[in-house]
Amino acid sequence: MVIDVRKLKYSGKDECAFHFEYEADGSAITLPDAEFCGKVTVNGRLILDGKSVFVDGEIDYSLSTLCSRCLTGVIFHNVVEFDEEYSEVESGEDVYKFKKGLVDLTEMVNEKLILSMPYSVYCKEDCKGLCPECGANLNQTKCEHIK
Ligand SMILES: [Zn+2]
Ligand SMILES: [Zn+2]
Repeated sequence: MVIDVRKLKYSGKDECAFHFEYEADGSAITLPDAEFCGKVTVNGRLILDGKSVFVDGEIDYSLSTLCSRCLTGVIFHNVVEFDEEYSEVESGEDVYKFKKGLVDLTEMVNEKLILSMPYSVYCKEDCKGLCPECGANLNQTKCEHIK
């Protein structure tokens, strides 16, 4: 996910749109039994401003995972917005560095992914879960343990 800012400058523009499809590795995922379902897509806009580059847009991904209560398979879809600054000269807590005119979004996208990960996912808001005694899926059946 690298954008060549020099090319943009040579072409006399100071703004461009970008679109990446990204094969994220599973290390960003905090949920057990979850994996990325398809590619992570990153759509956004880049604006040149002196020595700084501003990017904003959206990261879109789906996880194939299990309901945290009843363990039914579910797809969790998430959209994460970003709005960040990159700089060739200064570095700070809120500024990403870039070198040789190449802005690499990978680190930033991975950070956003990690921060956006859910701690639990439910198949539906009022999922009744599993009976702690017999393991019956209480969305589908009643059992003698739950009154
Ligand atoms: Zn459930
Ligand atoms: Zn039961």
